Amino acid sequence: MVQFQDQSKPLPRWKLIGRCTVSSISVLFFQFSLSLVPRFFSASPLLIQLSLSAVVLLVILGLGRWCRRILGVRASAPAFVFFNLLFIWAVYLAVIREAVSWLIGIVFNGEVILLIIGLCSILSSNPGLVTYGSSFPNELGGSSVADEGHNEGSDLGRRVRYCRSCKRYVKGFDHHCPAFGNCIGQNNHALFMVLLAGFLATEALYIVCSYQFAAKSQIIDRATLEPSLSENLAISTMLFAILQLVWQVVFMTWHMHCICLNIRTEEWINWKKYPEFQQVVQSQSGENEVRFQNPYDKGIAENVKEFLALE
Ligand SMILES: [Zn+2]
Repeated sequence: MVQFQDQSKPLPRWKLIGRCTVSSISVLFFQFSLSLVPRFFSASPLLIQLSLSAVVLLVILGLGRWCRRILGVRASAPAFVFFNLLFIWAVYLAVIREAVSWLIGIVFNGEVILLIIGLCSILSSNPGLVTYGSSFPNELGGSSVADEGHNEGSDLGRRVRYCRSCKRYVKGFDHHCPAFGNCIGQNNHALFMVLLAGFLATEALYIVCSYQFAAKSQIIDRATLEPSLSENLAISTMLFAILQLVWQVVFMTWHMHCICLNIRTEEWINWKKYPEFQQVVQSQSGENEVRFQNPYDKGIAENVKEFLALE
């Protein structure tokens, strides 16, 4: 019997402050690099500007990876998300606010405040850590763990998986989310979905607001006159919000599909590690073939019910 405790140690305070500083500097660098797109391509169609923004995003991400590998400088991903949110809020308050009605203003400010609260709560939430004494089959193999003494509760509660980022076991483990700085498991999966929906709603509203601003100040039609820095930032943050929205809609759709099938991201990607997802069938040539099967799928209604723990 091995006593399993949370193996991830919190970072020392000075390291945490250092990483947050790196994150805030990289957000400023990133957002001002993005503002170069409308600065030099204001006459180009939106789709071209969007593609260029995506290229800038990839280049900056690559640069961040390079800094980490060569210089050993690390940023904190949740701090990066947080400072991007603050930056967009600042652009809204300083530039875009004047172009939108007070009612939309209240809604947008409220959404941002809720997102900040949500980010803090998911960062400190317990995803469903398994800390009771139990014997675990090979750690890196990530085999499913069924502790005989803890069989009560939902099916999902018994599906304990190993998070390689945090080196710990989590009930109903879905995936490790670097952006939210935590594992997503049975206990915070619903919060994760709500937060994702919150980001989608806020981004959508921001796109509407910044578009209103652009239309009012006629940046889009006024191709000959050079836009000011604040106008560039209004457009570049709008492009950023569109990119975010697109990939989050794709991610959310896929995630909801997984919930309807009662399968978690980790299980979906690494199903060959978990025996219960494997079915050995004989192919026509007489050889054994391993096929995917999902023993947890009880139909959409039951699966969603189990996810929401209504049973
Ligand atoms: Zn984790």
